[in-house]
Parts: sequence; structure tokens; C-alpha cells
Amino acid sequence: MKVLVVGSGGREHALVWKIAQSPLVSQVFCAPGNPGTATLAQNVDIAVDNLQGLLDFAKKEGVALTVVGPELPLSMGLVDLFEENGLKAFGARKNAAIIEASKAFSKDLMHKYNVPTAAYGVFTEVEPAVSFIDQTGIPIVIKADGLAAGKGVIIAQTRDEAVAAVTDMLSGNAFGAAGSRVVIEEFLKGEEASFLAFTDGERIIPLASAQDHKAVFDGDQGPNTGGMGAYSPAPVVTPAIHDKAMAEVMRRTVDGMKAEGRTYRGVLYAGLMIDGGSVKTLEFNARFGDPECQPLLMRMKSDIVPILMAVASGSLEGVEIEWHDKAAVCVVMAAEGYPADYRKGDVIGGLDAAGKIEDLVVFHAGTKAAGEGVVTSGGRVLGVTALGGTVKEAIERAYKGVKEITWPGVHYRKDIGAKAMNR
Ligand code: AMP
Repeated sequence: MKVLVVGSGGREHALVWKIAQSPLVSQVFCAPGNPGTATLAQNVDIAVDNLQGLLDFAKKEGVALTVVGPELPLSMGLVDLFEENGLKAFGARKNAAIIEASKAFSKDLMHKYNVPTAAYGVFTEVEPAVSFIDQTGIPIVIKADGLAAGKGVIIAQTRDEAVAAVTDMLSGNAFGAAGSRVVIEEFLKGEEASFLAFTDGERIIPLASAQDHKAVFDGDQGPNTGGMGAYSPAPVVTPAIHDKAMAEVMRRTVDGMKAEGRTYRGVLYAGLMIDGGSVKTLEFNARFGDPECQPLLMRMKSDIVPILMAVASGSLEGVEIEWHDKAAVCVVMAAEGYPADYRKGDVIGGLDAAGKIEDLVVFHAGTKAAGEGVVTSGGRVLGVTALGGTVKEAIERAYKGVKEITWPGVHYRKDIGAKAMNR
């Protein structure tokens, strides 16, 4: 069968890489894709928000399954449109993708269905927001309500910073319409983990545990990014924490969404804060996390296509997922300046040499073909992802790949996976 993957990041390259290995698949398309996906799939020049263009293409080519990577087409209703036209698409429908598209919605849902999360308030006016800040004290977390590519969250260490963030967001200066409503919440301490699960709206099948590294610099310093690296498994997710996350976060959320008339099908991603035995939910995403998707898919032993198809068809009955008994680590290589304005157009050297390392894949994200070579074109440029018998081995192999690759101003964290080693 033919499969279409929608998106152009490291996540989509990883999806294409995994899907292309399925014996069920004759051809993979990626819209719009990147130079990495082009090595395994046929890239099609259709933007992720051109829903009608994607539908027309899928019909014309007889695509049996469309897999949606990013949040934007989900929140625009891509899956709904495909279903209305009798086509199978993997991902949350529009009325379920709101769990990511509106932080106010997801906080209210958690509150209503008793999903553990930080205390919060939702505001559209500065004055009551400032009163809430004064009541709660600092540090305090200010979040733009809408989609902001993982960058709409400010952890304010002073009252001035908190008030400035709220004022900026509510005035529309910081994130446009996405900031016209803000969620302000209690600061939680602990260690984060990413908990992902496939669900058909009733059954829930967890993926392996993973941990992302959001801050741009080593030691979790500097501003948050879309993610600077990830690894799996994450030892912070002990069996007891896993069970708690399944029962208190995933079960209650999937049931709550169903009760709201927003049956959730797809992959549900919970960002968790773990502190001792306590598990609280920081956020939900309606898609695979990126970069977590890269190490997770490298560790997945099962063919992913029947799983995605089962979800898109509405029943996970009988589906099981097997994992390689290995660890995987992804180190993101970013452009100078990211997550603020960053350099573009630099020629990337060493891709061939890195690509020769066994059990290592260089997933492309912000890259562009230029002549014979590849140049940087996004903030997060590559995800160098490797397997190893242990997290330590996977870290060593991933950094061996990273050391082969260069371009002017390249930046990457040197401590991806270090938290797993410290446990
Ligand atoms: P979110 O997009 O809501 O997950 O927020 C992005 C990042 O901000 C999270 O991954 C955390 O690192 C941090 N964060 C969000 N909410 C909180 C909170 N209530 N307490 C502490 N850190 C937070």
C-alpha cells in the first residue's frame, strides 16, 4: 500500500524511515518532506496547511494511509476532511486536537476529570492576571493559550518578569492571537518525562518511556526550544510512575475526552513532571513529540504500519507493540542563534561519514538541498539518533556521529542523556 506522511521535520523523517521498512508498504510519500525523507520517500511539494491539496493528492495516488506529523494540520481538521472523503488518516480529529491547540482547554479538562496538574488560572485581562501572580508568588509559569511551537511558555523568576510576560502576550505582541489568552500556573519542581500512548478513544497502548531536553544550553540553562535532544528509555519513569501515569493521566484524559464528545484517536503525548512518587501533567500534545519520536521509533521492533492503521480505523483491539531491548539517544544539532533568530544557508559537512556509523541515523529537520549538497534552513537542523546496549553506549555513538558533522555556528547540547546516567 501507499502511505503519505505529512510534515517536514525530524519526526517526519523518523516516521518515513520506520514506515518504509514495513513489508506492507510499496511506496511512501512525504509532503512537503526534506532532503532526509527524499532518500526514502517521494517528496511532494504540498504545504502541511493545504488540506485540500493533500486530500486531492491522496485520492489521485490511491494513498491507503496518511500519517500526520505536526499539530497545525490536525488542529485545522485534516483527519476530519480525510474521513469525510472515506480516506484513512492517523491523527487526532480537530475537536480532539484542541487538547494541544488550547492550553486553557486542556487545563480545564484536567481540572474537570481529576487529572493531576499544577494549580492555574486563565486570563484575558492584565489586572486580574497580575493579582493572581501576586497571590501565587514566584517562580511562576506564564503560558500563551494557543500554538507557539513549544516556545510560548515563560518561567518567570521575578514579579516584573511575570507581569511583563503577561502584558506582552495579552497585548498580542509576543505570540499574536495565540497569546490573547494566557494560562498562569504554579511552578512545579521535579524531573520531566514524555509519556506517549496510542489510543483509539478507549484502549490505550503506551509507547516506551522517553525524556526530552527543552532548554537550549547544557544543564537545562537558557530559553526553551522545541527540544534539543531525547532518549529512551527514561529511568525516571519507574514501573510505579508508569502505572500512575496510565491510571491518573492517560485513562482519565481519554475517558474525559470521550465524555466531552471529543473521542481522542491518535497518539496522545503527556508532558509529565515527576517529583518523588508524584506525577503531574504539564501539557498535552496531539502528536508524536519531536525529538522523542526519533529515539522511540528506532527502538520500536514492531511494524508501525498496522498500529497506525488500527488507530486510523478506530480499533486497537489485539494490537501489541514490541520494543528492542536497547536504548536510543537523539542529539539535536541546531543553527546558531536558535531558538531566537538563527543563521540559515550554511553548507552541512560530514553527513556521509556520520551516515556510515552502524545503528545510527541522521534524521533531517531544518535542511534544504542546494546543488550537490545540503544546507541549513531551520533552527533545529538534524537529529543524530543512535542505538546502544545501554544509554551510555547510545550516547557515545550519537556523539560520535555528531562529531563528524559540521557547519559554521553549529550548536548542540553536550549532555543529552546525562540525567539517565546520573540515576
Ligand atoms: P509546556 O509547553 O506547557 O509543556 O511547557 C514547556 C516547558 O515549560 C515544560 O516542558 C517545562 O519545562 C516548563 N514548564 C511548563 N509548565 C511548568 C510548570 N508548571 N512548572 C515548571 N515548569 C513548567
